[in-house]
Amino acid sequence: MILFTSPDEWKQLKSKYFGDQLQLGFVPTMGALHEGHQSLFRRAAEENDICLGSIFVNPTQFNQTADLQAYPRTLEADMRSASTAGCDALFVPEVGAMYGENSPKAAVYDYGELTSSLEGAFRPGHFDGVITIVKKFVEALQPDRMYLGEKDFQQLSVLREMVRREGFATEIVGCELIRSADGLALSSRNTRLSENGKSIALNGYKVLKHMQSHASKRSLEELKAEGRQVLSEVEGIELEYLEVVREDDFSPAKGEPGEGPSRALLAFYVEGVRLIDNLRLTD
Ligand code: AMP
Repeated sequence: MILFTSPDEWKQLKSKYFGDQLQLGFVPTMGALHEGHQSLFRRAAEENDICLGSIFVNPTQFNQTADLQAYPRTLEADMRSASTAGCDALFVPEVGAMYGENSPKAAVYDYGELTSSLEGAFRPGHFDGVITIVKKFVEALQPDRMYLGEKDFQQLSVLREMVRREGFATEIVGCELIRSADGLALSSRNTRLSENGKSIALNGYKVLKHMQSHASKRSLEELKAEGRQVLSEVEGIELEYLEVVREDDFSPAKGEPGEGPSRALLAFYVEGVRLIDNLRLTD
């Protein structure tokens, strides 16, 4: 696996080692790689001639400095993990290589409820940072396909919209959310939880599963209210949101016929760590 640190270096590497005719699959990450990331690398490697990854803890998408500072950084292990999963080249830029020498700034994007609801509402500026950096990556690397996990379901929807609006030729491939054997959504942030914290966090998934298994019989409103109530009573969980939205535009889902798939999404804190999860409720 080749490591590179600037867009210019990629241009040289690409023509020297890979050539311009090969299909390029790209997996952007912030590192602290786990089985969820690896599944993206494996799929990109399978479906493309070259599997390209990035590790970049993007400062402009963090709305809290403490969260940015606490974000796990494990480059040595990540290189092994990416390479094992089929990654051919790994882009690991410094902040200056992506944002120049001045302090990093995001542009402002408004995609309606896609960017203003849920994560957009609770993490002001978050999607501005995400769109800004992924746009830079796509422009610099010009991948044929970009692999994104359903773990960050709203981010996946926002980036699909970004690619459409910008008219990029890159195809977005949404990948299944990978969980631990007991159901906890794998996340780099889980490394900051104790074993007890992990079992508390599992309540989020249990509530989502309960909502899913009752969604054909009961109203989405009722299930949402019940889910919020259950989580508010779990000691050690501080619920930020639990909502049910239409997957197409993130407007509130009513469960009416012809509405299309609905999905429950939630965010909560355990042991000071912010966690997110989601599950499709109806097709
Ligand atoms: P991150 O490093 O958290 O920014 O994630 C990088 C990419 O990996 C994003 O597209 C995430 O949605 C995806 N990802 C993270 N965790 C998982 C998971 N448990 N299952 C599937 N994809 C994931």
